[in-house]
Amino acid sequence: MVAQRVRTRFAPSPTGYLHVGGLRTALYNYLFAKKMKGDFIIRIEDTDQSRKVEDAQRNLIKTLEWAGIVADESPEHGGNYGPYVQSERLHIYRQYCDRLLEDKNAYYCFSTSEELEENRQLQLKQGLQPKYNRKWLPEEMGGSMPSSEVRKKMAEGVPYVIRMKVPDYVSVWFEDMIRGPVEFDSSTIDDQVLMKSDGFPTYHFASVIDDHLMEFTHIIRGEEWLPSMPKHLLLYEFFGWEPPRFAHLPLLLNPDRSKLSKRQGDVAVEDYIRKGYSCDTIVNFVAMLGWNEGEGTEQEVYSLQELIEKFSLERVGKAGAVFNVEKLNWLEKQYIKSRPAADIIRTIKPLLSAELARKETPLSKEVITSDRYLEQVIELMRERVGFEHEFVTFSSYFFFEPEAYEEEAVQKRWTAGTNTLLREFSSVLETLDPFSAETIEAALKEFVAPRGLKPAVLIHPLRILASGVSFGPSLYHMLEVLGREAVLRRVAKGVERLAAQG
Ligand code: GLU
Repeated sequence: MVAQRVRTRFAPSPTGYLHVGGLRTALYNYLFAKKMKGDFIIRIEDTDQSRKVEDAQRNLIKTLEWAGIVADESPEHGGNYGPYVQSERLHIYRQYCDRLLEDKNAYYCFSTSEELEENRQLQLKQGLQPKYNRKWLPEEMGGSMPSSEVRKKMAEGVPYVIRMKVPDYVSVWFEDMIRGPVEFDSSTIDDQVLMKSDGFPTYHFASVIDDHLMEFTHIIRGEEWLPSMPKHLLLYEFFGWEPPRFAHLPLLLNPDRSKLSKRQGDVAVEDYIRKGYSCDTIVNFVAMLGWNEGEGTEQEVYSLQELIEKFSLERVGKAGAVFNVEKLNWLEKQYIKSRPAADIIRTIKPLLSAELARKETPLSKEVITSDRYLEQVIELMRERVGFEHEFVTFSSYFFFEPEAYEEEAVQKRWTAGTNTLLREFSSVLETLDPFSAETIEAALKEFVAPRGLKPAVLIHPLRILASGVSFGPSLYHMLEVLGREAVLRRVAKGVERLAAQG
């Protein structure tokens, strides 16, 4: 037997931004398909027209592509199983719904929303799980509604929905690829609406029809869809279709183990992109939310390609996965540490140009935007930044003059003689040849020793005047990169400013 080509799908509703949970679902579907040399497809589930958001489809696809998840078939790229947007497939659902009606697996329901609500309240009062009371289940299907009534309502043009008839007292069973065998008792299942009064199918109906017609072999989705499984499986049975395999992914949790929510942090992938996380980090992080390579592996940093090679559904856990921002930050740091300088330069150059366009600097723009200069800044700052954009923002003193000095640091590091020492040491720097980290260090030590002083009396003030702040990379290397001219100018200006302040 020829093995069927693996086909997986991500089926978002275009109701807004891409949630990190959605990214994980998409990623696992993508990784699994690619690992199995199969296809990954995007289908847009827009059957709830009231929740549809303009541009959401484009944004979802764009964000996935940003993460490197490119679909083999989608509304934008097409494919042999289209259309890939459910609102363009209404005629298909109608046709399959007719078949269910004919086979007496579905029926028309004219109950009004007031009636349904009344019924719900009544059942709740009786301590029952609310379910449709089958008022409109026709006589010939075991209910009490004469078919003449149905015809009458139809002729009057009263709005209706179409419900599936869930068989009584059967058990519905399937084997989840993550959870193992799962069983449901049909008495707990509602006669689900399949077609709404607006002529649109419900999610449950449309997704089963499409999953079958689009020939998906594996449905990988969030745990929240597990309770829908019996409805879906019954539909497969009604049609005589073999269901695909299913895998329900564990919930994403806040660190306090509550369900991941906006209240405790950002949940939109776009928010993380805006903060400056790289796609490698986000993909790596999201992949680890519920999956790991297995015992005995220390590896935590994976590229998308490595994830494709190593991913397996067997290694996805059942327990909820905690969304830990510290881990995310740690991963971003690892990413920055190992990223080739040339790649970082490519990212930061546009940022730097934008900054230079709006801010004056006495430094030579040609020098500070050169690869050579940027490489030195990157090597000095690599261990100190949390995001790539911080090479420009956090280390702005490599590009712009400090506008102010850290107040507290000045208080702490300045004594009566500090400015005089700085002036004197400046004349040493003026003639230093070459002007390098080593020569600056040697000169500073040589300068303080005969005066009976410690290097710290100059190290700290020099750093503060050169950078504005009291922390940073090795002072001597920083001064070397800045260059003699900039250092002398900054020291002179600083001394002058501080002297003026008294
Ligand atoms: N449209 C559903 C969602 O928004 C898809 C669920 C599924 O994958 O079946 O999550």
